[in-house]
Amino acid sequence: MTHTPHGKHLIAGEQVAGAARFPSSPAHGHPHEFSVGTPDLVARACEAAEAAFWSYGYSSRNDRARFLDTIADEIDARGDAITEIGAQETGLPDARLVGERGRTTGQLRLFAEHIRKGDYLDSRHDPALPDRQPLPRPELRMMQRPIGPVAVFGASNFPLAFSVGGGDTAAALAAGCPVVVKGHSAHPGTGELVGDAITAAAKACGLHPGVFSLIQGGKRDVGEALVTHPLIRAVGFTGSLTGGRALFDLCAARPEPIPFFGELGSVNPMFILPQALDARGGDIAKGWAASLTMGAGQFCTNPGIAVLLDGPQADQFAATATEALQGVAPQTMLTDGMAGAYRAGRDRVAATAGVQTLLKTSCDLRNATPYLFETTAEFWLANHALGEEVFGPLGLIIRARNADQMLEFAHALRGQLTCTLHLDAEDTELGQRLLPVLERKAGRVLANGFPTGVEVADSMVHGGPYPASTNFGATSVGTLSIRRFLRPVCYQNLPDALLPVA
Ligand code: NAP
Repeated sequence: MTHTPHGKHLIAGEQVAGAARFPSSPAHGHPHEFSVGTPDLVARACEAAEAAFWSYGYSSRNDRARFLDTIADEIDARGDAITEIGAQETGLPDARLVGERGRTTGQLRLFAEHIRKGDYLDSRHDPALPDRQPLPRPELRMMQRPIGPVAVFGASNFPLAFSVGGGDTAAALAAGCPVVVKGHSAHPGTGELVGDAITAAAKACGLHPGVFSLIQGGKRDVGEALVTHPLIRAVGFTGSLTGGRALFDLCAARPEPIPFFGELGSVNPMFILPQALDARGGDIAKGWAASLTMGAGQFCTNPGIAVLLDGPQADQFAATATEALQGVAPQTMLTDGMAGAYRAGRDRVAATAGVQTLLKTSCDLRNATPYLFETTAEFWLANHALGEEVFGPLGLIIRARNADQMLEFAHALRGQLTCTLHLDAEDTELGQRLLPVLERKAGRVLANGFPTGVEVADSMVHGGPYPASTNFGATSVGTLSIRRFLRPVCYQNLPDALLPVA
């Protein structure tokens, strides 16, 4: 049976209607009406989150793990309805949404397991040394404690895995932090169903209802009010460089600044080293075309740039990539705004003197088709605008004169989520020269693969130097992402009866 959204905010377990409504703009089907968020509603949610922290922040790891598992179960129970409205709102195929739901519930269950183990607390103990000269040492114990209410901005490009119940929310709840989500207006109905699931789980687990709230968007003042609310202790965000930077600046300008964990994207360059290009350039080109167009190129790890040495093998690579991209059918983009931004980015690259267009297709309305361009490393180095992300299936081949120029290109890169090396045994020496540079540029360096497809695992790093992220010491995917919402506290000479339960 088709699900009809209630269209209300979810504040501390209650459905709250706003005074104004906004219509969703689905890729298919009819729009629904949703309540517009307001600063007053944001304040109500933040106050409830702070009230919840006094119990939730001091709850046992087992209780929180049970909550995370229950959220996963409640999301699964709404699975078909989530897929149906998700497909309408985002235009993503059912199979992608089903897969992304599995990733989302898997992520919640992984965090439940992670906190049950307890290693994340990083507990340390320096026993007292009463006889130490010249001064005795007190007993010192350290462990990580939750920071308080966390604001999460749902990402448009992962309506499940990075939105209302996505990685940021899972990590914050696992840490012991209540969450206030600002829903993304690109998928309010999907967000609402996931919000309903979290609300139901909080009730089933007997938690303070302020542990979770969802304020739908509609206007910029919602996000501004959320990051500047004095009770919010940190922000998790995935989105554009412009929006993320504006919110980051607001966090820094607060009377009491707070960390803003923004993941703002990158161009994810691939370096194709000479022997690998010679031996299997055709396969790499076809693999690149597939990775570049996956999900209409709307992945933060989309490999937008391929760097290789100029010559006949580069010509062959360009020809194979062009042919592979030509066969890709138009794909629906997540929002009209994104489709418009993609076309504008494409036009900007196409109009840049010194850039040749290899593949021009026709995309209109909310559809995207791939574009392929090429230029020289020399030209790219002199034109920094070419290093900016164009969100969508757009590829740029960069021809370097020699290995030194490839290295110069690597040095000139801004912060990236990923950098990829395609290399064979004979490329080892150049790989060894590139790696120390790439390691300083990216959160993840990979070999002989494609960066789309981010494992949710203990060793994953999805972050990197600015502008890939606003905190190079953090990741927004994987169990390490819990660290963002914890801070170390040292307990000196405290009697056992006063130490935290964990
Ligand atoms: P966005 O415009 O940055 O918006 C993300 C969230 O932040 C939304 O909830 C938005 O609210 C809010 N927001 C943005 N600017 C704000 C401001 N100045 N004040 C208060 N709130 C603000 O990102 P998007 O809508 O997801 O996509 C737009 C573009 O971002 C895409 O075309 C793409 O270029 C890029 N993007 C990149 C990635 C990545 O992983 N690299 C992911 C997604 C998008 P409203 O919706 O209410 O405006």
